Amino acid sequence: MKYESFLIKYSEIGLKGKNRYKFEDALVNNIQNSLYEWKDVFNVYKEQERIYVDSNRDFSEYYDKVIERLKKVFGICNICPIKKIEFTLDYKELSNKLLIFINEVYGDNPSFTFKVKTRRVNKEFPLHSDEVSAELGHDILCQFQNTKVDVHNPEIRFFVEIRNHINIYSEIISGPGGLPIGTSGKAMLLLSGGIDSPVAGYMIAKRGVVVEAIYFHAPPYTSDRAKQKVIDLAKIVSQYSSRIKLHVINFTDIQLAIYEKCPHDELTIIMRRYMMKIAERIANDNNCIALVTGESIGQVASQTLESLKSTNEVCGLPVFRPLISFDKEEIVSIAKRIDTFETSILPYEDCCTIFVAKHPVTKPNLNHIHKSEEKLVDCIDELVDKAIENHEVVLC
Ligand code: ATP
Ligand code: MG
Repeated sequence: MKYESFLIKYSEIGLKGKNRYKFEDALVNNIQNSLYEWKDVFNVYKEQERIYVDSNRDFSEYYDKVIERLKKVFGICNICPIKKIEFTLDYKELSNKLLIFINEVYGDNPSFTFKVKTRRVNKEFPLHSDEVSAELGHDILCQFQNTKVDVHNPEIRFFVEIRNHINIYSEIISGPGGLPIGTSGKAMLLLSGGIDSPVAGYMIAKRGVVVEAIYFHAPPYTSDRAKQKVIDLAKIVSQYSSRIKLHVINFTDIQLAIYEKCPHDELTIIMRRYMMKIAERIANDNNCIALVTGESIGQVASQTLESLKSTNEVCGLPVFRPLISFDKEEIVSIAKRIDTFETSILPYEDCCTIFVAKHPVTKPNLNHIHKSEEKLVDCIDELVDKAIENHEVVLC
């Protein structure tokens, strides 16, 4: 095996001053969780402002799988497979180890342009960083005849970090960026079976937010397959966000009451307002400090600025809409990348589309909406309480 360890680099969390250790500890913890299945094989720890994923045995068989998992851990900026060697004061020994590394990774007669970049954190080492880079560059040229130095645009960069041990690496794999989950509070995602809301969940999780989710279904108008689809979507998003507690609300009686008593062109808006109200109550009961939706301006009638204003009116918690300015194609391309797309397009019914009007209002007038909602006063509070009381929780 060429590598013994992964060096994990993180960017923004380096900027968090005194709180930095909290972000690092959360990241170590999240990496441990993501590799839990192989907890006997890998050791995750931080040392001198770096995080390592080490193993004391050959981990070739896990190599690709570990990288796949790490690519889903927010807060990771880069994943670098490294050769870790013991600290030495002897330049020659360092040089030999680097040449062996190049031989192992690139073969005995490689052809590439390269640059060496050294960081000397342990100042006991007798040469300065630039001197080490220059000497190593010279040694590489002597050993491998078909290589050439290119300091501006090299094909390969060799990184040498001299710390309490020495890290050597040349491959840098991009991580997902963002902040470690658990460092930014918790929010309640309104998760439908569509394309947008799972992407919204992914994006809010990317900023370190723990995601809980709420799904409104309308049995028997919506099927178990539709519910299962939402559970499956929550499971896919949970690969990035850690486990998702999904609240499933039976919305049928509320929808029927709205359908019976309110003007049909206002159905979607009024339904949405009750979804938000219920979501807010469940959010408050579960210490979520914001709501999240997959809305984007103008995508459909219920997402014009006027409609968004009218859904916002009913809740006190902030409502975050990470996709607000995204075109559908942009959302679809993220959905494909994070693997939710294929599930989202399964053609199962959604509770909003079943009770939808032919010509919904696009600029709802709040006074009219309030008047329409007055027609629900005799039953709605009770129906909302009942829906909340009887709701089901699925851990995804
Ligand atoms: P999506 O892909 O999210 O379904 P959409 O374009 O179909 O997007 P709408 O149906 O207008 O959007 O819903 C807008 C937002 O309202 C969704 O992104 C989601 O956050 C929330 N929402 C809609 N239907 C439901 C539902 N049945 N359960 C929970 N949230 C929902
Ligand atoms: Mg939808």
